[in-house]
Amino acid sequence: MFSVLISEFEYNLLFRIILLFVIGATIGSFLNVVIYRLPIILMRKWRAESYETLGLDYVKNDEFPSKFNLLVPQSGCLSCHQAIPFWANIPIIGFLLVRGKCVKCAIKIPVAYLFIEIVTAILFAYSGYITSDILLLFAELVFISFILCLIMIDYHTFYLPDELTLLLLWLGLLFNLHGLISGSLVSALVGAAFGYAILWLVYWLFRLITRREGLGYGDFKFLAALLAWVGISGLIPILFIAPLLGIVYFVIAYLKGKVSLHKAVPFGPFLGIAAIMVLFFGKTFLIPLPI
Ligand SMILES: [Zn+2]
Repeated sequence: MFSVLISEFEYNLLFRIILLFVIGATIGSFLNVVIYRLPIILMRKWRAESYETLGLDYVKNDEFPSKFNLLVPQSGCLSCHQAIPFWANIPIIGFLLVRGKCVKCAIKIPVAYLFIEIVTAILFAYSGYITSDILLLFAELVFISFILCLIMIDYHTFYLPDELTLLLLWLGLLFNLHGLISGSLVSALVGAAFGYAILWLVYWLFRLITRREGLGYGDFKFLAALLAWVGISGLIPILFIAPLLGIVYFVIAYLKGKVSLHKAVPFGPFLGIAAIMVLFFGKTFLIPLPI
């Protein structure tokens, strides 16, 4: 039975794409939980640590229950905190069934939830379209999931948590022990080191010249992690695509009056999108390097 499934998965393209679309939507639903809860969990942790350092008793200052992690409490409405019926929790379909509103209090559910589920599903399905190698696919799905979380968390909070960037970095090196994605471990290692170093350099040059902060340390770690996956040959394409996407986004958002010259735009999302493009279409525009 299991071997039939595996061979079906490897040789039946349509089956693979549909299965990965469903898995993607489900994982996307979990990514939403991470995107929404991780910043709250971290904020609490830092607050508790600060209190401890100051020798004070911890005082909770948010409206969430004391026990709050990625699994507990059950997902509920952000407004009325009522539990969500199981059918409304079905990825993509649930959102459409409740027409994007809480069934209890009718408050609008952010459309970003649906967006992440659909994007994850499409990216998973596309991965299955370009490869049938199970280990490679698994690695790609892990990579994509982390990137999506980091993109959204950076977009919402201007923060790229070490808990995700550093874990992503180590996972990239592990998956590339035999060069699964990067071609070689050396390429992944050198990529990680150069990725960090180059943005660090840009940061300090920008800071010395303009006396302003453009990037953050989270961006350095994120780029290091991304290159630990795609290897050093991804450096130039990512550093070319990401700012380009950033500029296009900024111009559009500026014309719509959503950003101003004094308001920063997070850079992480563009690094993340560029890395996914390199992952999928890398061979088309990767510049061969001697490593
Ligand atoms: Zn509600």
